[in-house]
Amino acid sequence: MSFTNKLSVLKIVEDTLVDGPGFRTSIYAAGCIHECVGCHNPASWVHRNGTFMEIDRILEVVKNNFLAQVSFSGGDPLCQPQAFTTLAKKIKQETGKNIWCYTGFTFEKIKRTPTLEPILYYLDVLVDGRFIEKKKDTTLLFRGSSNQRIIEVQKSLRQGRVILWESALPNL
Ligand code: SF4
Repeated sequence: MSFTNKLSVLKIVEDTLVDGPGFRTSIYAAGCIHECVGCHNPASWVHRNGTFMEIDRILEVVKNNFLAQVSFSGGDPLCQPQAFTTLAKKIKQETGKNIWCYTGFTFEKIKRTPTLEPILYYLDVLVDGRFIEKKKDTTLLFRGSSNQRIIEVQKSLRQGRVILWESALPNL
């Protein structure tokens, strides 16, 4: 079952450093359809393994940690596209925070799918694509396998092609 004003959430981790640059509030969605071999957390595939939280309650957590930016991970946040779009829109409009989103869908698939596409307008960075075990590389920054791309979403939308994110951090 999916709601528009609630999200099934596995956990919210504050001040994590692993889901994007700097301190971030990471919201881990329950539910994923991709079934990648070697997935870090198969328990996250099941929607009902999460706890339903009101979008406004999650927004409050994000706002209270005013120095942290935001990441959506999972599971796959885009398996609850409407509610995550609403959350992303509220975060952008009410806080202006930088938002990263991890998903097993590719940017191109999201762009051509009417139910998925709206969230793109509120994201800064998308880490896209399924985890592919044969392409696993533990030296990669902020992603698990080399097929996954770290994409500058707004630049990509403006230019009509995928523009990769380039870290501003030294030596990364
Ligand atoms: S997209 Fe992520 S959470 Fe979903 S099966 Fe693949 S690795 Fe696991």
